[in-house]
Amino acid sequence: MRTVKRILKGLGVAALALTAALVIIVILSRPKPSPTLQQQVDTGPKKPPELGFTVEDLDEPLTIDTYTLTEWRDRKSLAIFDSEYLGMFFDYDSVTPEETKQVVADNPAITPRFRELLYWYIDAIARKYPEADLRILHYNLQTLEVMEVDAHQLAFEALSLSAYGCYKRAENKIYVNQDYDYAPGTWEYQVILHEFGHAARTVQRNVDGDDIRIQLSDEYLEIPEEALNSLFTVSLFDYEERDIAYQLPSNLFQVMLECIDDYDLGDYINHSLSYLAAKMDAQTGYNNYAMNIFRLIGAQRADYMDDSYERDQSTYYPIYDYVCQLYLERNGAAELDAAGRRALVDRLVERVTYDVPADHPLDTEEFYRYAETAFPAD
Ligand SMILES: [Zn+2]
Repeated sequence: MRTVKRILKGLGVAALALTAALVIIVILSRPKPSPTLQQQVDTGPKKPPELGFTVEDLDEPLTIDTYTLTEWRDRKSLAIFDSEYLGMFFDYDSVTPEETKQVVADNPAITPRFRELLYWYIDAIARKYPEADLRILHYNLQTLEVMEVDAHQLAFEALSLSAYGCYKRAENKIYVNQDYDYAPGTWEYQVILHEFGHAARTVQRNVDGDDIRIQLSDEYLEIPEEALNSLFTVSLFDYEERDIAYQLPSNLFQVMLECIDDYDLGDYINHSLSYLAAKMDAQTGYNNYAMNIFRLIGAQRADYMDDSYERDQSTYYPIYDYVCQLYLERNGAAELDAAGRRALVDRLVERVTYDVPADHPLDTEEFYRYAETAFPAD
């Protein structure tokens, strides 16, 4: 494939440190609430935080995360990043959907409405992604609690005013608003199933004095994780849902996944994002490139959510170029004339911008510029 390389300047860890602080809370939120006039007056524009990475072909290939085990005195700390290594913690190789539903039935903290939703969820995964490893979900469901709280407490637990729900893995608790109804097709239905998705991929426990973390989700890639979890969630529905949590990142990942061979959302349940990034690098021919595209997608979201700064739009062009490159290749752009390619880019832009809030900066012209550069006039 053609190589497009853009270099983003700047080194720093501020953004990563900020993300790390949020590690144990996985929040589902919709577009931010508008700032009040007073807030707008109080906060003038400030310098954007450093990205802390560069989007370019790197010298070293990406390493797929496996596990880390450290010992200090009598205390072990085990972190597992891929279901292939779950045998280091679980002494069984697999669990069935029936066994997983049984732990739901045996967990007195799960009320009937959530029990039914979980039965449906487990069956839907088994039907759609029979390769998905259910051990993490099975383990969490033994003690999972769904806390139905008022709006104030939800904001407090999620550390966010715009949260619709959150999963706190250290507590193994899902927090949702007590007023929700969970009829299929509603936003709340997507919220609760999304939170189940977090419980299917991450564990944090102290077991006999040892720290255990199962972390197929990557704490430094919160937004890509949220986007993939959101796509996984709606992929289970019996109907098409285009109104997806984390809409712009989800739209971008949806297009990218369609263009990648040998990966489906069952792989998302079984592996970390480094596994997906390695697949993408293998297909595009880049060296350790996709992971920084993922990070840039996260940075763009953070930029949108924080009104105190706004980066120049060109910062995010590598995302658009990368997605456009994958999409044009996958859809045979080389065989088309200029008008055909333009129509293709029109379709891509519609996909990427679908339901993105009107106030979200997004320079869609870059998709067209990329296509024209990649395929100079015939
Ligand atoms: Zn989430």
